[in-house]
Amino acid sequence: MEKNKKQFETEAIRGQMERTAYREHSTPMFLTSSFTFPNAELMADTFAGQAEGIIYSRYSNPNTDELIQKVCAMEGAEDGFATASGMAAVFASMAAFLQAGDHILASRAVFGSTHQILSELFPRWGITFTYADPKDIDNWEQHLQANTRMIVLETPSNPGLALIDLEKAGALAGKHGLILNVDNCFATPYLQTPLRYGAHLSVHSGTKWMDGQGRVLGGLIVGGAGLIEKVRFFCRHTGPAMSPFNAWVLSKSLETLAVRMERHCSNALQLATFLEQHPSVEKVHYPHLSSHPQYELAKKQMRLGGGIVAFEVQGGVEGGMQFLNRIRLCSLSSNLGDSRTIVTHPASTTHSKLKEEERLAVGIRPGMVRISVGLEHIEDIIGDVLQALEK
Ligand SMILES: *Cc1c(COP(=O)(O)O)cnc(C)c1O
Repeated sequence: MEKNKKQFETEAIRGQMERTAYREHSTPMFLTSSFTFPNAELMADTFAGQAEGIIYSRYSNPNTDELIQKVCAMEGAEDGFATASGMAAVFASMAAFLQAGDHILASRAVFGSTHQILSELFPRWGITFTYADPKDIDNWEQHLQANTRMIVLETPSNPGLALIDLEKAGALAGKHGLILNVDNCFATPYLQTPLRYGAHLSVHSGTKWMDGQGRVLGGLIVGGAGLIEKVRFFCRHTGPAMSPFNAWVLSKSLETLAVRMERHCSNALQLATFLEQHPSVEKVHYPHLSSHPQYELAKKQMRLGGGIVAFEVQGGVEGGMQFLNRIRLCSLSSNLGDSRTIVTHPASTTHSKLKEEERLAVGIRPGMVRISVGLEHIEDIIGDVLQALEK
């Protein structure tokens, strides 16, 4: 990046757009669909890409541009595009590059809607996929085909928190000239920067930890300038742009991302450590617990362990649902990445449509509970979980 690059927290706060004539301290909102030109010549040059200027908010807007620049600085990316939701970003990051006859190699443990795009939508347009075991990156090469164009993965995985070695994935993509597309939503740019390990695109749901307060939907794609040019073309003409209002909210949210993630992660580690010692908890999954089978990898590619803890209660599906029914303080919701602690039982909700063996293949056991650890005081979070375990 530029020679005057600053630290993460400083970029998140000071990476704001130039002040307007009012010299405001905090960035104002640009709720305008289009922009004007002083004369026909400058208008023509701007349309031709020969003059800098903003034309229309479907292509760009000062608020979305500010947000994109901040996330690029955080991820070490050259350029980016902001979309209306995380799924719009996931879809555009694939559709912008693929055509009929192409093949995607994907980790089996991808977000539910990503799975629907791969298995229900893309086949209609002649784009096929193969799933590979996220725990077995050393053997992914055997799944590549002559028409493979892209590798798609998420790490850590949802909800089992299995990790994929990003350096190995980057090396595999590099060796075969494939685009490595990483959904970095669970980790956030504060904890993990896939581009540094050879990924070409890093994709986010801004809806989760980035906003972190459950207010807006949003998505981001960042990567090398050449690839983002293709993403921009695709999005400019298909229209999944983020609203300037949401971009303003998200840019503000990023100012506190580092301090929020520090607390989410320390609360999560304390909760995971507590759960591991509790007699009626069968297993705890958390990347920065030394009992995690990929603990060394987690320490290498993730600054902290993240805000999600998964654990297994006794009694299977019934036991998991009973645990949820006893929760008093935390929220029962399918979302994650909020200041409020959220408890989910994947086997009966987000992953209920899968067959039992499909769930087990992605590490979801019947009694598995996922907690998105919030910013309430850790004693109150542990207190609620403890009373739900012991009733
Ligand atoms: C939530 C989520 C998405 C989708 O984001 P939306 O903003 O809800 O569209 C994609 N990937 C992961 C890992 C997610 O958790």
